[in-house]
Amino acid sequence: MIENKAPGKDITEEDMKSKFPLAAKKAGKEASTFIAAGVEFGGALIPVFAGPNMVESEELIVETAKAVKARGAHFLRGGAFKPLSFPYRSAKYTETREQGIAWLKVAKQEAGIGIITEVMEERFLDLICDAADILQIGSRNMQNYPLISAAAKTGKPLMIKRHFGCSLRDWLGAVEYAMVEGNEKVILCERGVSAPHTHRSSSRFLLDLQVVPAAQEVTHLPIAVDPSHATFWRSWVRPMSLASVAGGADAIMLEVHPDPENSAVDPLQPIDFASFGDLMKDMERVARCVDRTLGVHI
Ligand code: PEP
Ligand code: MN
Repeated sequence: MIENKAPGKDITEEDMKSKFPLAAKKAGKEASTFIAAGVEFGGALIPVFAGPNMVESEELIVETAKAVKARGAHFLRGGAFKPLSFPYRSAKYTETREQGIAWLKVAKQEAGIGIITEVMEERFLDLICDAADILQIGSRNMQNYPLISAAAKTGKPLMIKRHFGCSLRDWLGAVEYAMVEGNEKVILCERGVSAPHTHRSSSRFLLDLQVVPAAQEVTHLPIAVDPSHATFWRSWVRPMSLASVAGGADAIMLEVHPDPENSAVDPLQPIDFASFGDLMKDMERVARCVDRTLGVHI
């Protein structure tokens, strides 16, 4: 935070008073905590969202829900409405939409696990709210303010993923659009930013772990990290998940798939059930070093 009037992307004290007073951390006040689907956010617990990129079929989502829950996940993730990069579809590469939402409801009942899923259009909010415990605003929609306002008005907790080209200041502006509607249950999620050069040309994003402490200095809201989308590479998910927990992440989102290589979307990034189970234990070890827990037995 900068004290004088800094133009551009830096966050000033004036910003905290007038641009995002609701999201801004108040002097002498602790980070806020809230409950979503019976799980506390912002406290000692680090909730984990795990599941496939896309809700591909009823069998896949129910199997994954049970598998991630058994390994300690707090929420099942999975998109039925997906911001796919190209408009063409094949039998496999197809959003499951209303059908996918119905399958998420089955998974929630059969596994007894909370659901987080993406909302892309206001007109599907009622349908999605029927299944979702947390509404996910994807990185591409971080600046879709009418969508954020409408999602916030449902009263459901929201997770707003950071756009890959936006500053923390812009991101907090998006969060304020939710809070100004009276919704205080907002989670931020870092998912990788675009950088002119990453470690290999095919690596899409760079995990901005520094934004975790940076955000915690200026907002009282919990900040999640999604190492799957940020790295795009399965073998980098584990080290970056451990680093995220060590670096103070308040929640973790992970792509987990029964057959990762055959994931309908982004097959390079999901991890399998066994790797997820091992990672949960290892994240628990790291969490304890920073006085946090995932609630996993080790
Ligand atoms: C997702 O989590 O399914 C997703 C599409 O992520 P992002 O918005 O970060 O690309
Ligand atoms: Mn994706």
